[in-house]
Amino acid sequence: MTTKMRTTMKMTTSTTTTQMMQEDCPMCKSIENCRCLSYKTPGRLPRNQTPKIVMLTFDDNVNGVNNMLFKELLDGRLNPNKCPITTTFFVSDIGTNYAIVKNLHMKGHEMAVHTISHRTPSTWWKNAAEEELVEEIVGMKKKLEKAGIDNVVGYRNPFLQTAGDRTFKVLYENGFLYDSTLPAHNGKP
Ligand SMILES: [Zn+2]
Repeated sequence: MTTKMRTTMKMTTSTTTTQMMQEDCPMCKSIENCRCLSYKTPGRLPRNQTPKIVMLTFDDNVNGVNNMLFKELLDGRLNPNKCPITTTFFVSDIGTNYAIVKNLHMKGHEMAVHTISHRTPSTWWKNAAEEELVEEIVGMKKKLEKAGIDNVVGYRNPFLQTAGDRTFKVLYENGFLYDSTLPAHNGKP
């Protein structure tokens, strides 16, 4: 099983609203429009009134073995509003069972692209030509669409290694709406 689970959790601690209003973002220098990665609350919300958001995603192939884990983790768990929790699967082709992909999608989970081959070494993804990226990225999108997934708009690169502008160009020109590749450390991608 090659599936990895990544979670992002924003925890809350008590800080007064007055303290937060005095703090501009050190990177974009904005209070009102800041979207930088930080532990600060959005829109000056008091921390004890800020919703806690967990983003749950999985990478790599989807098969009968890791589907047992998905069932155990996801089935029957609800958000505070009683809606089922959902996640995003960044799917690669090799070893993937598309009937399971379709089934997970029908349960409300998002399916996104993680390329066809997920090949090694990781440096291949840094140096890949635009045509190679089209083959890997758009090719995987078409495989998901052929399996009945009609709204494939997300992408994450293998090994979190992009080819820079070449990757973004391919995503932009082929109907993707977001990339979930670049890791951030202390707010700096
Ligand atoms: Zn991967």
